[in-house]
Amino acid sequence: DDAGVPGRVRVAVRLRPRNAEELVADADFADCVELQPEFKRLKLRKNNWDTDTYEFDEVLTEFASQKRVYEVVAKPVVESVLDGYNGTVMAYGQTGTGKTYTLGRLGEEDTADRGIIVRAMEDILADVSLETDSVSVSYLQLYMESLQDLLDPTNDNISIVEDPKSGDISLPGATLVEIRDQRSFLELLRLGEAHRYAANTRLNTESSRSHALLMVHVKRSVKGRDLAHSFHNGNTTNMAKSLRPTLVRKGKLVVVDLAGSERIDKSGSEGHTLEEAKSINLSLSALGKCINALAENSAHVPVRDSKLTRLLRDSFGGTARTSLVITIGPSPRHRGETTSTIMFGQRAM
Ligand code: ADP
Ligand code: MG
Repeated sequence: DDAGVPGRVRVAVRLRPRNAEELVADADFADCVELQPEFKRLKLRKNNWDTDTYEFDEVLTEFASQKRVYEVVAKPVVESVLDGYNGTVMAYGQTGTGKTYTLGRLGEEDTADRGIIVRAMEDILADVSLETDSVSVSYLQLYMESLQDLLDPTNDNISIVEDPKSGDISLPGATLVEIRDQRSFLELLRLGEAHRYAANTRLNTESSRSHALLMVHVKRSVKGRDLAHSFHNGNTTNMAKSLRPTLVRKGKLVVVDLAGSERIDKSGSEGHTLEEAKSINLSLSALGKCINALAENSAHVPVRDSKLTRLLRDSFGGTARTSLVITIGPSPRHRGETTSTIMFGQRAM
């Protein structure tokens, strides 16, 4: 298992179950895909007699639990963040296929429903010690190349600053909230969601037209006997040269709920639709190019082509881990979009 190997992007595909409408309207039609999770294979039906077969790192059927999805998609990344590395978990797919369900479910009615973000924070809070370590969170929306603070709606033009030496990204002005327990984290997520809804209503757009990014910074101090081991790991800096020096080890987890990957009808009636379409196509194709470069172990990752990829630059390559979950629906009516999502995932491997 190479879950912990930096550089390579791990790609999982997740199929959502048929919804009520599809159960009725498509009752006479087979799903457009057939999954063989034991072989990590997906068969895409081209017509009644012809299928194409694709392999992924993980194939998650409509029966896969949220717990299992967390364990295969995100847990290895969270563990490396706790060790002082940067890591990214992204969901890519057509609107309505389960990106937000996979990443953002709070699981308030049923804890089995908790998505990747909530489970990741539980694991992080269980591992750190809040006397010496800190966990802080920013929550952002990227819409049409403008970066908005979901924790402070007045702040809708955050700039991205890159440290010329380390290549690290900082976002001056973005709200950073220290998290001490899961309850206050859930409150923060709800606040961010409410702000996202309000901002999108004001801009007359859908949340599926923007990218949402949750950033979790984990800072830990490492002392004594762990020291020798830590010197060669992750983003570690020596803070004091005493007999028992303290090191600060920093990891960053970025969870990205990407804009819907579907082609937007260019003749759409909303005046801003074509602009949105261009912006989304630009950022998703720039992301695709960066992921392909990582997959090919290329020395050059073209991060400068979009704000999305500039934001993720210190999460790409080097010692960072990246995990991509592509989400698809079963309906034969969306075979075209499903095919293009599968291709995006294949190119990342
Ligand atoms: P997206 O964020 O990709 O637009 P959503 O996460 O909002 O899609 O999912 C669309 C709908 O499908 C929601 O009602 C969601 O609850 C449901 N859904 C998505 N994935 C699953 C799943 N694996 N199991 C059950 N329901 C799902
Ligand atoms: Mg969504």
